[in-house]
Amino acid sequence: MSDKRVCSYMVTKTKTSTKTQSAAKNQPMTVADISQRIAHHLQFTQGEQVCADQKPAYWRATSLALNDIIVEKLQSTKTRQQQSEAKSVNYLSLEYLMGRLLANNLHNLDLYKNTEKALKDMGFELADLCEEGADLALGNGGLGRLAACFLDSLATLDYNAMGYGVHYQHGLFKQSFVDGHQVEAPDMWREFGSPWEICRLESSCTIPLYGYVEEIAQADGTTASIWHAGKMLKGVPWDIPIVGYNSQTVNALRLWECRADSAFDWEQFNNGDYLNAHQQQVAAETVSKALYPNDEHDAGKELRFVQQYFFSACSVQDIIARFENQYGALADSKNWSLFCDKVAIQLNDTHPTIAILELMRSLIDVRNIDWDNAWAICQKVFAYTNHTLLPEALEKWSVALFERVLPRHLAILYRINEAFLNNDVAALWPNNDDMRARLSFIEEGHERKVRMAHLCVVTAHKVNGVAQIHSDLVKQDLFPEFNQLWPTKLTNVTNGITPRRWLKACNPLLSNLLDSTIKGDWAKDLNRLSELENFADDEQFQQQFMAIKHQNKIALSKEIKSLTGVTVSPDAIFDVQIKRLHEYKRQHLNLLHIIALYRRLLADPALEMQPRVFIFGAKAAPGYQLAKEIIYATNKIADKINNDVRIQNKLKVVFLPNYRVSLAEKIIPAADVSEQISTAGKEASGTGNMKLALNGAVTIGTLDGANIEIAKEVGDDNIFIFGLTVDEVKALDTQGYNPYEYYEKNAEIRACLDWLDTDYFTPGVAGELSSIKNCFLSGGDPYKVLADFQSYADAHQALDIAYQNKKQWAKMAILNTALMGKFNSDRSIEDYVRNIWQLTVSN
Ligand SMILES: *Cc1c(COP(=O)(O)O)cnc(C)c1O
Repeated sequence: MSDKRVCSYMVTKTKTSTKTQSAAKNQPMTVADISQRIAHHLQFTQGEQVCADQKPAYWRATSLALNDIIVEKLQSTKTRQQQSEAKSVNYLSLEYLMGRLLANNLHNLDLYKNTEKALKDMGFELADLCEEGADLALGNGGLGRLAACFLDSLATLDYNAMGYGVHYQHGLFKQSFVDGHQVEAPDMWREFGSPWEICRLESSCTIPLYGYVEEIAQADGTTASIWHAGKMLKGVPWDIPIVGYNSQTVNALRLWECRADSAFDWEQFNNGDYLNAHQQQVAAETVSKALYPNDEHDAGKELRFVQQYFFSACSVQDIIARFENQYGALADSKNWSLFCDKVAIQLNDTHPTIAILELMRSLIDVRNIDWDNAWAICQKVFAYTNHTLLPEALEKWSVALFERVLPRHLAILYRINEAFLNNDVAALWPNNDDMRARLSFIEEGHERKVRMAHLCVVTAHKVNGVAQIHSDLVKQDLFPEFNQLWPTKLTNVTNGITPRRWLKACNPLLSNLLDSTIKGDWAKDLNRLSELENFADDEQFQQQFMAIKHQNKIALSKEIKSLTGVTVSPDAIFDVQIKRLHEYKRQHLNLLHIIALYRRLLADPALEMQPRVFIFGAKAAPGYQLAKEIIYATNKIADKINNDVRIQNKLKVVFLPNYRVSLAEKIIPAADVSEQISTAGKEASGTGNMKLALNGAVTIGTLDGANIEIAKEVGDDNIFIFGLTVDEVKALDTQGYNPYEYYEKNAEIRACLDWLDTDYFTPGVAGELSSIKNCFLSGGDPYKVLADFQSYADAHQALDIAYQNKKQWAKMAILNTALMGKFNSDRSIEDYVRNIWQLTVSN
């Protein structure tokens, strides 16, 4: 019922859109205007009630009032984009880690301060109210957050863009700890409806699947393929407006919800089989029910495959419908080439790859475009972003599953593959069966599999990695043959983050200082922050900068207390590792070093050392056992350390539960140290590293992903680099890595690992943490933790000494903020626009 209400309410608002446009555009809304709008929603949409906790009602009324303004702007943006006939970019991603929307939307419309005043008069703190909003966690980690930052930048830069995603009923699970173990609960982000969504029933679409293909000989000698689908799904789009910062544009994120094609089988219903009639509906709804939580390896489940196809097909059909709406039928041959001029489709990783096959099918089977033209269109329209080199994360789907669910799509894939092998591969490597087998879309073997990435690379006109080192490795190690075939296809676009969410909105104290120090709008042009270089040695500015860090640390200390019960001192170094839990990210390297510090402190209580608080935040995929054991071990070791009076509070360890965007926004402004310690060559880019550095945290990290580019920007004096390089890791692999050598030669490593076998951290239950020791030794330590340990410990010692010099540290922190301009996601988007999408601004 609540869905319906939001829906019809929005329809009435869009009708009145033209009247009050000027209010949203040029004159900022007054406090009185805002109060009135909020009061209106309290009275009419909320039906104001007297109850103990009025915060939820005020949050909702404020959000609805703001959304009125946003929807007006969305309508005028659409009109303008249509009139300008600007090319659109369609960003296809199975994940969007949006976080909360109220504060960011207010900041982006420059309405935050006035809304704050309006609510103060009503007796509420805006910052408190913002906490009421659901955190939209429709993604796992970096890949989904990147998509969210890109949408912010596209709207800010006035590009005509649409984000496409899945309207998951449940986003990423909620995490809590019970006796140190991760416990998962469903995320109910829209249990009572979301004020930001607009249901676009008129843009629903029907998606065929299963069934068989009939080949019919044509008079002209060709064959036509008719797919008799065995089942239909219905895609219902929900739009979330994406508000540009200080710009003309509001774009949309369109999320597809899956329903059964017809809500009821009426015959069954009339026959009295009421419950069975619901079965179809229930089965269809499972397709968009939940986000898959494994971000690094896919389970190969049929439902996931159907989810990817459902999403890709809805999005492609919608892209075509929007084009035909504006420019006329695609079946008209003069519009084929126009389609390529007006539409770009970006695939965020291989998850939406089936969109390629779906566009081919739509062009050939539905619009009667011949094969060569359809293929030419696909090659011009699609581009693909690669996010990982980890072999287990490269998507492969069984041919048998493909054939059963999408028989027509598989036939199209085979034909593309044949043409590729017989033309492109045969031309460069004639009579080379080995090369054919290596590059084929089909991996032969016990179970034949489709290599999704190969279809992407062959089709796309550009393939990009997400940081320079990653893109180099994509060329050298992942797709060297494709790079030989098409030397200009593989390219780089280094990731970025939006400074609106990750500084302006999340760190108001620092933002105010920057506003009063820097000329011009740094949140739009982040390179302006380099002006701070002039203040890096200025004692007064250093004090201001560090006083803000201290305030933020006090706020985080309170949060830590309320989340974990642990008391931490804001005078200690706040050392932060926040990211998904994965062996390649090496939270267990951090943990091993913590154990070492603890041992050193017990051995020498007078040890000279700055008090340190290690702060973790991470979710483990529910099926990833070792990741869960690392969480458990960290919690157990934290417990012991935090309650050990002998170390006089010099060391604290806290694992904050339920890491997500809104928690990141609290941790990042308070961080002194940013842990970016993946095995070199394993982290494609990282974006957490950028958020932390932007907020004045100093990085301790390996030469991996964007760390390399961060080091280049801030200079070697303002970052702590340690560990093996990519080349050294490769050399070690060639030579044969043996973790036992480090265990035997390094007494500290040996003592720490042996400690894990005792019951010291888990009283009464020896061996509870032995799995961690085993993952280093008998597990073979695939991510080379032991090889990097000493270098990591030494870097930490250097960091400790640097922190003792307050002025030196302040300078380092300031320079980190000053020199992050490159990592603005606006820059990433301009790189895509120039090298991949070829868009023009639409205002
Ligand atoms: C930025 C972000 C990430 C990505 O962090 P990395 O350190 O780059 O892996 C993951 N989760 C959330 C909630 C984020 O905000």
